[in-house]
Formats: sequence, C-alpha cells, structure tokens
Amino acid sequence: MEPLHLIPRVTRAAAGSSPAGAEKRYCIWTIGCQMNEAESSKVEAMLSQVGYRRTETEDEADVIVLNSCVVRQAAEDKVVGKIGSLARVKRLKPDVRIALTGCMVTGQETKLRERFPYVDLFFEPSDFDRLVEIVPELAEADADLAELPHYYEPVSTNPGVAAFVPIIYGCNFLCSYCIVPYRRGKEISRPFDEIVAEVERLALQGVREVTLLGQTVNAYGHDLPDGRDLADLLTAVDAVPGIERLRFLTSHPKYFSDKLIETIAVLPSVCEHVNLPVQAGDDEVLRRMRRTYTADHYRDRIEKIRSTIPGVTVSTDIIVGFPGETDEQFDNTMRLLEEIEFDKVHVAMYSPRPGTLSARWEDDIPHAVKHARHTRVEKLMERVSAAHYAAMVGETREILVDGFAKGRWRGRTRGNQLVFFDASGDWLGQMVEVRITTASTWYLLGEPVSVLAIA
Ligand code: SF4
Repeated sequence: MEPLHLIPRVTRAAAGSSPAGAEKRYCIWTIGCQMNEAESSKVEAMLSQVGYRRTETEDEADVIVLNSCVVRQAAEDKVVGKIGSLARVKRLKPDVRIALTGCMVTGQETKLRERFPYVDLFFEPSDFDRLVEIVPELAEADADLAELPHYYEPVSTNPGVAAFVPIIYGCNFLCSYCIVPYRRGKEISRPFDEIVAEVERLALQGVREVTLLGQTVNAYGHDLPDGRDLADLLTAVDAVPGIERLRFLTSHPKYFSDKLIETIAVLPSVCEHVNLPVQAGDDEVLRRMRRTYTADHYRDRIEKIRSTIPGVTVSTDIIVGFPGETDEQFDNTMRLLEEIEFDKVHVAMYSPRPGTLSARWEDDIPHAVKHARHTRVEKLMERVSAAHYAAMVGETREILVDGFAKGRWRGRTRGNQLVFFDASGDWLGQMVEVRITTASTWYLLGEPVSVLAIA
C-alpha cells in the first residue's frame, strides 16, 4: 500500500503532567500513516493552545480524539475495537467529549453516528475547524489556530528534532485496491509560501529534520497556478536555516521526474533516500492494479536515481496475492526485487477493501499461497539487507539522534538506516558521526566519533 507508510502506532508519549483535576486534559490515539500522525499533532497544537494538557489515560481526559485508518482491515478492526472500548468511559463519565477523525469518517458520518451514538463529533481529515463543536474554548483562542504548525511539543523539556509537514492532500490516482482516493478526495496542494513559513517556524522550535508528506507527494503543485513543483519546494525548504535534513513521502513512479532526481542530487539537506512503491513487478498485475506504469518504466526510474544520486538508498512497497496473480506473475516480481536489491521492502498480503474496484473481484489467491509469497519476499530481503548492512561496518556515517531506547541512543543515517550506540549524557537532537562496528539484518551498532555543528 502506498498511502504513505502504514505504521500503526500511538502518538508520542505525554510531554508533561499536572496535578489531577487542575486543568482540562486531552487524550489522543492515532493509527495509520505519517499523514495521520501529522494531523494528530495539529490537533494537539490546537488543544494545547487553549490550555489543555495531554494525558495518556482516557479515564482522566475531558476530550478524547481518535484518528483512524481504514487502509487495511487490521487497522480498521483496531479502530472499531478502540471506539468500542470508549463506551465504558462515556458511561462512567458522561461529560467526556469524544471525537473520531481520519479516513474512517469520510462519507460515513451518518452510518457511524448510528453505530457509535456515544461519539460526540465525527470530522473528516484536515477539517480541524469542527473541533470547536466539542472544544468551545477554540472559538476564543487569541492565536490564529490555522497558523499552528503540524508539529508541536506542548511542554516538552526535550524539543523534538524531526517533524512531518503535509504538503498535498488526497490522490488523483485510482489504484484498484486502494480506498484512499475515496476517503481523502482529489489532490489539493498547500500553498507554497505557507509550507515554507511552517518549516521556518519548525526550525525556530528546534526541529532539524523535516519530512514533507503526501499520498502522492511528487504530484505536489500540479493544481497550483504558478507551475512550481516538488523540486522547487525542496529547493526553497533546503534554504531554511537550521533544517539539516529533508525527506519526502510517498512518491508515485509516474511523477518521479528527471528534474526531481537532479534536484535531490544537488541540495545539501535532501537525504539520499528514495521510497518509490512499485507494488508488483509484472505488467499484467500492474495493469489490473491500475498503477499506470510498467515494470520497465519503474526500472528506468531506479536506474536514473542510482546513477544521479551518489550513495542513494531505495525502498519500496509490494503487495503479494493480488487477485489473479499467477505463480509466473509473482516470479516476475521476485525477479525485479532480486535485480534491484532494494535497501528495504514493505510487503503486504492483499486483502480487499470494501468500496474499491478490486473488492468486486474474487479474492482468489488462497491465504497459504499469499503467505508463502510473503515469506519468499521477506527471506530475500533479509539476505539483501544483511549484506548491505555488513558492507557498512568500518564506515563512518552521520546520524541525527532522535531517541533513546532500551539503554541506547538511536538515530538514522541520511539513507534512513537505523543506528544504535552506547554513550552517557544527553545526545538527543545531536548530529553525530558514528563509526559502524556491528551489523545485524535490520539495524547497525556504532560508536560516536564526533558531534557535528548544527547551523
Ligand atoms: Fe497511492 Fe494509488 Fe492509493 Fe493513490 S490510489 S494513494 S497512488 S495506492
């Protein structure tokens, strides 16, 4: 699936606490892609602006916001389970206000209202103004809430270093398996100058790495009158003082132009990592997926990327077991994977999403076959990833330290490889040169060599 990366997760941990009952509190639960995470951050920014504090405990909250995803059945099931669990909270505390947003809501408000009558507000993605219906304080806010960035740490003592910034909403493609265009609508690019201004504010907050987001992020600007595109936007954001690293997600192979590739190659802050979902390596499967390109077009784009951007890493997304996918067609996908040797592959077994074109077709690949194909892709990728990582041992790489987990500092290289290192002191937000000492299949261990000055 390409609608960004489906990374079910709960949003960041509470940034602070306050005496029980002293002030109003909100609880926010997010599942789905980085776009959802960015939109939840916007909700957090709005609520924080009018004095609400974050809690992780639903029973303590005055406002609970759920941000949903329906791209896969498993995600939708989790959302339904979460909403169901809130019936108890509402029974015990009738004043709590509950809101549901995200892809589950679009076009479904009437049905959802009948199904979950204890939910106070359903609002479509990005329709933040409607929050005022359950948070009346927003109507009296001094600040222009529309100006708030999509990223915000309310009371953190450790300012965040990486932020997501949505730049284009919706998708004009109609891939036959994908629900996103029906739930997020047609592409709408945010104004160019508004995005640059948001990144400038983030840089002043201490953010060092920005990821520009869109379901088809490289379609950015198609609907703007002045012809400026993603390459132009990258150029403008690269010039923002303090932004050391720039990434973008998720791209469509059809729009991965030479201009974009050449721009990535020359801009210092744009990281040498490209995520370009291919979904299948067989032209007939691609045709039925309605992906609008061939496997050879995809190969051509990867070749151009690799020959133009030194040291670039490339990741992709694959769906196995699409309706009608024969053994030979799957073998074509395996051939493409073996040939390109991606740095990372996100692989998913096909499951029909009601409301899409492919859901009207027979889901005719048995689960055992889908599972076996999934395993073949994973085994191949384990081998490729382990070899890529082993080749890095002894090299020195720049990482941006973005967290501390299981007793170790953690960061990513410009190529998006995960690196851990042991060290005392506070390294959060530092740009560090690390010598790679050990490679495993999916991550690296290293030792810090020097701390790089940040502009
Ligand atoms: Fe991506 Fe296709 Fe879905 Fe658009 S319709 S979000 S291009 S998978």
